[in-house]
Amino acid sequence: MTADSFHPPVRTLMGPGPSDVNPRILEALSRPTIGHLDPAFVAMMDEMKDLLRYAFRTGYELAMPVSAPGSAGMETCFVNLVSPGDTVVVCQNGVFGGRMKENVERCGATPVMVEDEWGRAVDANKVEDALKAHPEARVLAFVHAETSTGAISDASTLAELARRHDCLTIVDTVTSLGGSPLEVGGWGLDAVYSGTQKCLSCVPGLSPVTFSERAVEAVKARKTKVQSWFMDLNLVLGYWGGGGKRAYHHTAPVNTLYALHEALVILQEEGIEASWKRHRDNHLALRAGLEAMGLSFVVPEDERLPQLNAVGIPEGVDDAAVRARLLEDYSLEIGAGLGPMAGKIWRIGLMGFASNRRNVLSCLGALDAVLSDMGAPIESGVAVEAASRVFAG
Ligand SMILES: *Cc1c(COP(=O)(O)O)cnc(C)c1O
Repeated sequence: MTADSFHPPVRTLMGPGPSDVNPRILEALSRPTIGHLDPAFVAMMDEMKDLLRYAFRTGYELAMPVSAPGSAGMETCFVNLVSPGDTVVVCQNGVFGGRMKENVERCGATPVMVEDEWGRAVDANKVEDALKAHPEARVLAFVHAETSTGAISDASTLAELARRHDCLTIVDTVTSLGGSPLEVGGWGLDAVYSGTQKCLSCVPGLSPVTFSERAVEAVKARKTKVQSWFMDLNLVLGYWGGGGKRAYHHTAPVNTLYALHEALVILQEEGIEASWKRHRDNHLALRAGLEAMGLSFVVPEDERLPQLNAVGIPEGVDDAAVRARLLEDYSLEIGAGLGPMAGKIWRIGLMGFASNRRNVLSCLGALDAVLSDMGAPIESGVAVEAASRVFAG
């Protein structure tokens, strides 16, 4: 068998991730590979830690990317902070809270679930009740931005509750980092993980994490070994920890780290607050267009993520057929619903580099054309104008 080189089609990525990658980042990825202990590389790593602290808005000493996707960042937090026999309060209001539960169980610990409706924020009152009912709990875990539903939760309030009940927090910021206000230091979050392919608009495959001093102390005070050799921070920090010596742990994904460095430089150039504002502004225009068309949002307004717009699929419309037409005719990818929301919602991402005016207008235009052509019960020909009016102020 002979195969040809693979050349992917050019797409516009407006789903739940990966998002469109800035060409500057793709260029960084193609720079020459050097040794992962080369002094030039090590200097780049040190700079990257500072850039991650900037993005997370924290001064925590431990800030580094795990060499694997967001799911591995999640697992890194759980395996290091949860020991067999522990109790962990886990909030679930979508798919990713369910994965947290899995992680707790696989660590040999007991999850206490706080369930909220999918499409709503985590209810702090329920969390407080669970923490009161389980004084033995050591960790509170929750998702800041639930990508499966488009809902954001009040991480500041949840972290304060956790501290009051002597719990550390494990917080999923995969979709919030760079897209929604996130103050890891200011809110006192403890073990925080994210991903590269959402609002950082980098290639998939890395998971930035940061740990508070309290969380690092807890890892050091463990009585049992971390179950995962690869994710054991006591070992990983031999490479990432800094100081004079760096020991081989695993071969760092050198070029992917160039890409993340570039993504973080781009974020710093724009300014994190400007990035939050851009995500919000583009969301407001997209919202105006979608609502003019007659589509409605799943999440109540004050719990809505700007970077992930979950809208109901109109009655009688074939979800998969619409997404296939968008991909084939417009090279545009939007996301399907997950779990109980499959077939009921679309998830339109405006993440990172993809959060721009052109994408807002072209997505609305394409959706309008496809839905009208399929005879869907929508208001045709008004969406783009409604969004343009928002851009015009
Ligand atoms: C995408 C996502 C993850 C998983 O990240 P991967 O890079 O796909 O492993 C975890 N949590 C949330 C909230 C996500 O959106």
